[in-house]
Amino acid sequence: MSVQVLFAATENRWQEYETPLREAIAAAGIDAHIATDIAPADTDYIVYAPNSEVQDFTPFTRAKAVLNLWAGVEAITGTPPLHLPLCRMVDPALTQGMIEWVTGHILRLHLGMDAHINARPGTWKPKAPPLAFDTRITILGLGALGAASATALASFGFDVTGWSRSQKQIDGITCLSGPGGLDAALARADYCVLLLPSTAATENTLDARTLALMPHGARILNPGRGPLIDDDALLAALDSGQIDHATLDVFRIEPLPADHPYWTHRRVTVTPHVASETRAAYSSKTIAENIRRGEAGEPFLHRVDRQAGY
Ligand code: NAP
Repeated sequence: MSVQVLFAATENRWQEYETPLREAIAAAGIDAHIATDIAPADTDYIVYAPNSEVQDFTPFTRAKAVLNLWAGVEAITGTPPLHLPLCRMVDPALTQGMIEWVTGHILRLHLGMDAHINARPGTWKPKAPPLAFDTRITILGLGALGAASATALASFGFDVTGWSRSQKQIDGITCLSGPGGLDAALARADYCVLLLPSTAATENTLDARTLALMPHGARILNPGRGPLIDDDALLAALDSGQIDHATLDVFRIEPLPADHPYWTHRRVTVTPHVASETRAAYSSKTIAENIRRGEAGEPFLHRVDRQAGY
């Protein structure tokens, strides 16, 4: 009998995924029935987006895994049954998108592009931008996205430090870890990029205390998740000039409410959660490989540790 794959995401996602997902699963050598209306008790794998109508996996009595289409899993790590394997999305396109967003927004600030784009006669005040060699960047989170962004920035010559829960070794990057490593990583951050997951342990990683550890005039980029930052503390640090600029892609409430002070703050750039998107042609291959592994009895890729929350 064919493997039953339920696609549980929004309707527009199904239109995007139907063909590439069928092709990728067939290319992995799996005979599968893939649809949006398979009964829970008949489902082997749930290809899932947290904004799907499915919010309880308990009726999926024979499911072998939930295969998330998103990298972030904070909305579902606690969804029962807790023994059901949950895998997050890692794919080369998601990683590439994040590298491009992080690098582009850092280079915009580093080169002072905004000032030069609106140059007019009478504004001829030559001042060369600093060099990457003389600029320190700290990336909080050295997972799939943080490590790749760190390596890309180091290739431009930036002096890059990374911080993670466990100690890492990455060529060309100064790697720090654990609670003690955070203060040292921030003390040397002309730029700080947040690529941590949203968990109980990472909430308010940037608060009044840690923002004050950064060099005066430091810049922050948050493509991770909104709860990583204490918003009131960041607004106070922006008002005082301790933080020169914040480029924010993610927020505690999305869309960012119309009256939120971030929209109008002169030191803030808001982007609407576009840093990196899952693209069907690439992510379908990750899903297909995990179904192949499930059927072969091999360990799943990118399995979430539900206790750690990522
Ligand atoms: P990942 O591979 O799971 O990496 C997470 C990193 O954070 C790991 O290095 C991990 O340390 C570290 N970390 C977790 N908890 C920590 C703690 N308490 N203290 C210190 N370090 C901690 O995740 P990813 O694929 O790189 O994605 C990162 C996040 O980006 C996602 O969770 C998602 O929220 C966000 N995201 C945003 C967009 C967007 O469009 N804005 C798109 C995709 C993803 P270890 O290595 O030691 O485990």
